[in-house]
Amino acid sequence: MGIRPTKNSYTKLRLILGDQLNYEHSWFQLKEEDTLYVIMEMRQETDYVKHHVQKIIAFFASMYNFSHWLKKRGHHLLYLQINDPENQQDLLKNLELIADRYDVKVVEYLLPDEYRLDRQLSDWAGSTSYQVRAFDTEHFYTNREDLAALFKGKKQYLMERFYRDIRQKHRIMLDADGNPWGGKWNFDAENRKPFKSKSFVPPPVYFSRDHADILEEIEKAGVQYFGTPALDAFPWPVSRRQCLALLDYFIEHHLDQFGLYQDAMHKEYWNLFHSRLSFAMNSKMLSPKLVIDRVIRAHQANPDRYDLAQVEGFVRQIIGWREYMRGVYWAQMPGYSSLNYFDHDRALPAWFWTGETKMNCLRYSISQSLDRAYAHHIQRLMVIGNFALLAGIDPTALDAWYLGVYIDAIEWVEITNTRGMSQYADGGIVGTKPYVSSANYIHKMSNYCEGCAYDRNERVGPKACPFNSLYWRFYEVNRALLEKNPRIGMAYVTLNKMGVSDKEAMMAQAQSYLDSIEDL
Ligand code: FAD
Ligand code: SF4
Repeated sequence: MGIRPTKNSYTKLRLILGDQLNYEHSWFQLKEEDTLYVIMEMRQETDYVKHHVQKIIAFFASMYNFSHWLKKRGHHLLYLQINDPENQQDLLKNLELIADRYDVKVVEYLLPDEYRLDRQLSDWAGSTSYQVRAFDTEHFYTNREDLAALFKGKKQYLMERFYRDIRQKHRIMLDADGNPWGGKWNFDAENRKPFKSKSFVPPPVYFSRDHADILEEIEKAGVQYFGTPALDAFPWPVSRRQCLALLDYFIEHHLDQFGLYQDAMHKEYWNLFHSRLSFAMNSKMLSPKLVIDRVIRAHQANPDRYDLAQVEGFVRQIIGWREYMRGVYWAQMPGYSSLNYFDHDRALPAWFWTGETKMNCLRYSISQSLDRAYAHHIQRLMVIGNFALLAGIDPTALDAWYLGVYIDAIEWVEITNTRGMSQYADGGIVGTKPYVSSANYIHKMSNYCEGCAYDRNERVGPKACPFNSLYWRFYEVNRALLEKNPRIGMAYVTLNKMGVSDKEAMMAQAQSYLDSIEDL
């Protein structure tokens, strides 16, 4: 059942998109009798790529809970469900229909974070007879344009510089003289440990509400999806209360080891010490400020347990990487979505949709993604993304996969991470060099290589780990684009020292793997 308003006409309509569920927004602090809030489930949003079913359920459930919260606070609301016979399944058609029906004069919306929605609404605003006004979502620390302004005239934007700027502006973890706590801005070097099963990993928290009714509606509407719905133990928070519970659970159980094992991967622990707060934040149910404030408070209350290295590592992900990626997106769109520095065009192997590959690291990381709509950063970057880059997968196909699979994937943060950080398709705007590795790194940071059908120590031969020969082939075929990069020098020193026959054997091995990529 949807929610219908009680009056027949409203002067003002306020649109709330599915990822704009900001419980703290100033809009909702005052009750306005003549304002109609509108929230809509739409095929336009479920179908722009094929999505993981947990992602569709999580968004619909969160939108529905948010609308109930609004209603309880006395706001007037129209919640349009996916199977409502009047639903046009298109943002602008629905908007016009509702505005017309309720005799609306003014339409207000919150600035979308996605370029496609931003254009759709701003183009409409320029052509419609309604008075249209756009407002900030009051979610981020920075404005869309801040990053471009800071790096005006530069080709590359350095995350570290942006991060320090935000910490200074918002006085985050600074002493009275403006110096960073602990005398350093960045404790990254202390945060790169592999996890060797020595410490106990507290299990992830689940939320038990049964979402069978939402799944039924999604199926009735004919929305195409993949993945398992996890109805019995849904892992994603879909209300403010659940988001806050997840944050508390993270602080109580995982934060103290977060930084230490941030880059580690393990077959038995799918989220190790990661927070899984990305969905809560990207849907805006939790603000980054609230998350950061609570984490810093935990450190201040108990610095022995929550040491500065763990806390700074976490804070940097959110006010560093997260805000930075958003800044890059708005500085670079729309061109960013078609950048392809290496001209990669290989099709995505079919096993990306099943996880059925003999490569253990990819089997675990992809199967986990398909089961749980989640992989942590290093699985996304150094296993799945690493392989895709070494194999020369078309970044557009890869973007569509990441955008559909992950619970937190919204284009502003997905594309900058996938096309930018992981695929270096932007030629070095986000990263100073491509994130690629041979089996060495994966073995060092995980236990995936144990029991793998391939041998991590071999470069050639029937059992040789594909990452090894593909790694060297990547540098060889991209010599003209990469050799002059000062951060890559060592790879070319090694490659140049390699004997001709060794090199030829390895290139042939890599090519044969690429020719039979579906069978790897
Ligand atoms: P934690 O490890 O607990 O980190 C805490 C928070 O820091 C995250 O919730 C997130 O909000 C933020 N964060 C950490 N790293 C990044 C980053 N690189 N960029 C932006 N925010 C970051 N993140 C998304 O939110 N949506 C995506 O679609 C997405 N796609 C990615 C694709 C690739 C190829 C890569 C390499 C990374 C991607 N990330 C994406 C970033 C990161 O992997 C996820 O934010 C993180 O894994 C979410 O899990 P978590 O909440 O447990 O994170
Ligand atoms: Fe992955 Fe190679 Fe290790 Fe197998 S041996 S898990 S393919 S890195």
